[in-house]
Amino acid sequence: MEIKAYFQDRQDAMVNLLKEAASLETPSDHPPSLKAFAQWWAGLLRGIRGLEAEILFDGDYPYVRAFLPSPRGGKPVLWLAHFDTVWPLSSLKRMPLREEGDRLFGPGVFDMKGGLIQGLFALRYLAERGEAHPPVVFLCTSDEEIGSHHSRAAIEKEARESRAVLVLEPPVGEEGLLKTWRKGIADYRIRVKGRSAHAGGEPEKGRSAIRELARIILEVESWTDFQAGLTVNVGVVRGGTRSNVVPEEAEGEVDVRVMDEGQARMIHERMKTLAPSGDGLLVEVTGGLNRPPMERRHTEALFRIAKEAGETLGLRLQETGTGGGSDGNFTAAMGIPTLDGLGAVGDGAHAQHEHIWKSRLPERAALLAALTERLSRFP
Ligand SMILES: [Zn+2]
Repeated sequence: MEIKAYFQDRQDAMVNLLKEAASLETPSDHPPSLKAFAQWWAGLLRGIRGLEAEILFDGDYPYVRAFLPSPRGGKPVLWLAHFDTVWPLSSLKRMPLREEGDRLFGPGVFDMKGGLIQGLFALRYLAERGEAHPPVVFLCTSDEEIGSHHSRAAIEKEARESRAVLVLEPPVGEEGLLKTWRKGIADYRIRVKGRSAHAGGEPEKGRSAIRELARIILEVESWTDFQAGLTVNVGVVRGGTRSNVVPEEAEGEVDVRVMDEGQARMIHERMKTLAPSGDGLLVEVTGGLNRPPMERRHTEALFRIAKEAGETLGLRLQETGTGGGSDGNFTAAMGIPTLDGLGAVGDGAHAQHEHIWKSRLPERAALLAALTERLSRFP
């Protein structure tokens, strides 16, 4: 219970720091803002006794790596977080930070600066308490919302050397359900080339790329199997030049969600064998798996330990899954035990009503600290 009181006493400090973090805007496509945030954040982390924090870059994209050693030694527990948001600069003008009862609204508070703040306070607790915890690496990246192309190598390198990965992304719903599975995401682009012709003069000489793409869209979307958790969505199409021209070119962008590697392979095979339906047409497919699925077999052992840790805090933790990806997809697919959803309880990720519940910040920070301590006995 002592651990609970520690965090409850710090609720106001957590809320105030979260407001400060959210008032520093961090759109994924604006590296100068990301760098400014990284400097502020690393400065805060360096204020924790015994903690080393450095700012590293991949191209223009910074990430902050903090390390809390432990006299016990051994492999660290990796905490994963990101500080970029989907909100463009000046979003605060349209949706300023505001409090309404127990809720704090604002861009990025839920996805996922609330999780960052919980992580900071949990690290501070572990640093002050001393020996009971394993070493911790807290990796905070800045391109998660745009696919983690700059941070993936660093994430995988840290994960390879870790005993477990805890992802500080938001949990689901008011119950704060932890995430034990996430679908994998594959992206494809389908390009069709036909032959242009005057739509009035000699249409019979044309080969319509749009018509061919339409046929392919119906085919690939028919692979969707809701029961099996497999979906194929053509979300963007482009093509043609004028209504009186038989279109020479068309392309579609496809988002595929899969439950497991087997589904991913099956879809990939089918994509690669898409063929034109007639002479004078070319079909080209590029793309593949971007985030591999986070399968439950890589998460259930950690979830069991989280449940036990939760019980010591009076929490009855439950699990769920989601079609959305996170950086936990990468680490789980490497076979490293991973648990996701350890961030702030709230709602409205990527939406105007994004918010967190202030009174739940201490509970979740306590869970992160207690779970990490428990992992000192995890191989
Ligand atoms: Zn996120």
